[in-house]
Amino acid sequence: MSEIDHCSFCGRPRDQVEMLIQGTDGFICNECVVRGMEIVKEELSESETFDPELLKHNKPADIKRFLDQYVIDQEVAKRSMSVAVYNHYKRLSDPLGDEEGVEIEKSNIILIGPTGTGKTLMARTIAKMLNVPFTIVDATVLTEAGYVGEDVESILTRLLQSADYDVQAAEKGIVFIDEIDKIARKGDNPSITRDVSGEGVQQAILKLLEGSIVNVPPQGGRKHPEQRMIPVNTKNILFLVGGAFEGIERNIANRLNTKVVGYGTQEKRDSIDKENLIQYVTAQDLRAYGLIPEIIGRLPVVTYLSSLSKEALRRILTEPKNALIKQYTHLFKIDGIEFTVEPKALDYIVDVSFDNKLGARALRGICEVILTDAMFDLPSQAKKKFVLTEKLALEKLSKIHVDQLKK
Ligand code: ADP
Repeated sequence: MSEIDHCSFCGRPRDQVEMLIQGTDGFICNECVVRGMEIVKEELSESETFDPELLKHNKPADIKRFLDQYVIDQEVAKRSMSVAVYNHYKRLSDPLGDEEGVEIEKSNIILIGPTGTGKTLMARTIAKMLNVPFTIVDATVLTEAGYVGEDVESILTRLLQSADYDVQAAEKGIVFIDEIDKIARKGDNPSITRDVSGEGVQQAILKLLEGSIVNVPPQGGRKHPEQRMIPVNTKNILFLVGGAFEGIERNIANRLNTKVVGYGTQEKRDSIDKENLIQYVTAQDLRAYGLIPEIIGRLPVVTYLSSLSKEALRRILTEPKNALIKQYTHLFKIDGIEFTVEPKALDYIVDVSFDNKLGARALRGICEVILTDAMFDLPSQAKKKFVLTEKLALEKLSKIHVDQLKK
């Protein structure tokens, strides 16, 4: 120590500060105490589970309104999702805490519906809205530890990567596990037809859903045996799970038929909308399809997305915030070209997608086929207006085979 007493933190001598507090091996000045306290406060508030402001401004109706900007139709799923996400964040910030001895359980969600109806889009949109780390993983690439494929822990590796290795942020993130139906145990009776690999992966996923501390390899895989594992607590991670569950209508129909007996039977049967059985899906059907009961138990919110109507496909082309037509209009505008689409051309694009059962995902491919030549030629021409007519759309699409649009 030097001759004159000074603050061990900022180095200022006693005569330049109001107060110096002595410790066993040095001093701290009044200003460094205050600054230190600020740092402690900052650190602690950062590690608090949640920013309650988020709840104030994101009521279920607000969440739904946000989803509406990107996702067309699917009203039931949007409402369930909004409530589930709201409850999830209520759980994280619970102002009543343990006081009442009530612990809110997680509201992980399972989204059921044909491919290309907006399941991933919905999960992605929620993550965008909440600005939390988000990752998508396909259940079919996952295997039990020790087998070829990815360990279930790799889901968390990806989440960590999307959070730039900020563990605290990752622990409040959202994971979307797609194609869960593909790892369903085959057959109705578990003891007769055991699909061991499917069930094993379900068990492994269950560990994540349950909320546990998982040691995560930061680089993923087993190629880096020397890497240090990062412990990640999955307790507050929101899991959204999706699947097409092709043929689940059969399970639903069976259940509805056997259930609807007794007084008023005919009436109840008549009121069932047979064209859209998916709307009646319950946890019981998922079990019959081959999800293990423990997994179903951890996915308390079951919701569905319906096939998209022509009307919905048309709206998808033009309405969402980043609708395809808006994107092309923007692209042309950058070249000073005013781009418009005839309503009949829109109808035609929709018909091609709908009639060939290509779904919303193919709309982009169809537009690319129709517009690529224009995007190639127009920037070097003097033309400042470009109208997409039905005739042009027809002409361009006639040059390819519809299979080329299938993904
Ligand atoms: P999946 O249900 O298979 O997860 P996606 O969400 O990946 O389907 O949908 C594929 C693409 O189709 C999306 O990126 C989006 O452009 C479009 N799409 C599908 N459904 C909708 C919808 N309901 N509203 C708006 N766009 C949709």
